[in-house]
Amino acid sequence: MKLRKCANCNAYTFKQTCTKCNKETINPHPPKYSPEDVYGEFRRRMKAESNVDRDN
Ligand SMILES: [Zn+2]
Repeated sequence: MKLRKCANCNAYTFKQTCTKCNKETINPHPPKYSPEDVYGEFRRRMKAESNVDRDN
């Protein structure tokens, strides 16, 4: 079971919906990398480009 977060009131819960305001909760920490992540290379490239932008 993963800890989830309410985007509405920022409460943390394990439930799919917030126990306080009954809004749907989100996963605040999505997995950063997995071997099956087909978008990993794309994201790394985007990150590299954003770093270049910052340096300039
Ligand atoms: Zn809430």
